[in-house]
Amino acid sequence: MDVEQARQGLAAIVGEEHVLTSRAERAVYCYDASVFRGRDLLAVVFPETATQVSQIVRWCHQHRVPYIARGTGTAISGGAIPTHGGIVIELARMNRVLEIDLDNQAAVVEPGVINQDLKELLAAHGYGYTYVPDPGSQVVSTIGGNVATNAGGMHCLKYGITSNHILGLEVVLPGGDIVEVGGKVVDQPGADLTGLLVGSEGTLGIVTKIVVRLLRLPEAVVTQLALFKSVEDAASAVSAIIAAGILPAALELLDRAIMRVIDQAIHVGYPEQAGAALIIELDGLRDDMPRTVDRVAEICKAHDVISIETAQDAEASARLWLSRRAAFGAMARLAPHCYIVDGCVPRTKLPEALRQVIAIGKRYGLSIVNLAHAGDGNLHPGIPFNKFRPEETAKVLQAGREILEVCVALGGSITGEHGVGIEKQNEMLLMFSATDLEVMRRLKRAHDPEDLCNPKKIFPLSLFSDAA
Ligand SMILES: Cc1cc2nc3c(=O)[nH]c(=O)nc-3n(C[C@H](O)[C@H](O)[C@H](O)COP(=O)(O)OP(=O)(O)OC[C@H]3O[C@@H](n4cnc5c(N)ncnc54)[C@H](O)[C@@H]3O)c2cc1C
Repeated sequence: MDVEQARQGLAAIVGEEHVLTSRAERAVYCYDASVFRGRDLLAVVFPETATQVSQIVRWCHQHRVPYIARGTGTAISGGAIPTHGGIVIELARMNRVLEIDLDNQAAVVEPGVINQDLKELLAAHGYGYTYVPDPGSQVVSTIGGNVATNAGGMHCLKYGITSNHILGLEVVLPGGDIVEVGGKVVDQPGADLTGLLVGSEGTLGIVTKIVVRLLRLPEAVVTQLALFKSVEDAASAVSAIIAAGILPAALELLDRAIMRVIDQAIHVGYPEQAGAALIIELDGLRDDMPRTVDRVAEICKAHDVISIETAQDAEASARLWLSRRAAFGAMARLAPHCYIVDGCVPRTKLPEALRQVIAIGKRYGLSIVNLAHAGDGNLHPGIPFNKFRPEETAKVLQAGREILEVCVALGGSITGEHGVGIEKQNEMLLMFSATDLEVMRRLKRAHDPEDLCNPKKIFPLSLFSDAA
């Protein structure tokens, strides 16, 4: 198969104007937000319907061409890039909200709907409901991509990850069959196929429709910013808040290094002695709120808080959140690229994990900055570097691997939310035995015996005989 044959075959399904094949266009789609790049891409195709997706998939199987679904390419683990050639199926045109069914607290959307767009649509109609999952990329990432990576976000602590908000899916399976799994009825008979597909990173099929759960907006929301001298103080306050029976909607931690970078970027004015910040969002019934706010402040004081500020309205709250939301952008001040590690530990192990992250940074001569979804024990060390310097990149990736080893050794996981993609294929061996991996591969083989649907991802490369 060459580029021209691919262009003709795909144009016959979706029309000439919805196929990209120029050299530059193909090069662009060899990237996502990770540090990796793909190769040998034949074409990028933009279907508009599930039927077209099915026809494209059938065409791929007929010609033994690998295919990779793509949302907006914000994944950090390389899941959407073509590592073994083939075509990218870009779902941006499938971006309609098909139904809002408040009586059943559900909405039906196409995979290319941007996460934030659904929230804004619900807010604009004043329904009093929202779609909760909120990855940091929510203004650009698609709900299809969020489903495929089982995305987390700031409000996972209280409301769960994407899988907790997906009721059903329409999927084009390898081979081209269109199936529906799950739906608005909560307890479906048979195996939980929706659960199997959410988080499978586009390796078991292409999601073409999603039934999402809507939740009622809380009556009251209060945001607090607590500054501590050290990460240890902040992290023990996190555990103490939850141990006191308070479940904040969000509990985000910033370390000294990232606070300094954010301060340089947006001039927050953090005091010099502040070594860690906690952003705490409480939500619930209006009448309960003052008592909960006071209780959280007391707990923070018991853990040597330097200051605690409480925002009472949406504008003040947005100001307190700004520093967290500006963090990734601010890192761009440090170096041309930033490698964001995604590991998870039991929340009480967070101070130990961050201590070891800082030690790894020192050992490799890297300036690591730290963000964490602290309530979930999900840490995101950011390592600024220049990926056009191969030795620097190798060092950064090795430091990242050591951080994941630390997470696993502390009883945690190699990913808290970003998925495995190609980034952590080999790190799967840190967590799973050969038997565990074989069970997972049997599922993939049963769905996709030819390994054409996002091939050679997730599993350690050593398991593929032809993965060069
Ligand atoms: C600044 C920034 C902040 C981020 N914050 C978070 C965060 O807080 N939490 C978090 O979890 N992630 C976060 N991410 C990572 C990323 O945004 C998520 O993984 C997101 O879910 C990817 O969505 P996407 O539309 O960009 O998918 P893509 O990157 O295009 O694809 C991701 C994977 O999903 C598959 N896929 C996409 N669409 C479909 C489909 N319709 N059917 C089947 N498979 C599909 C692809 O093949 C690929 O394997 C962040 C990224 C950035 C750049």
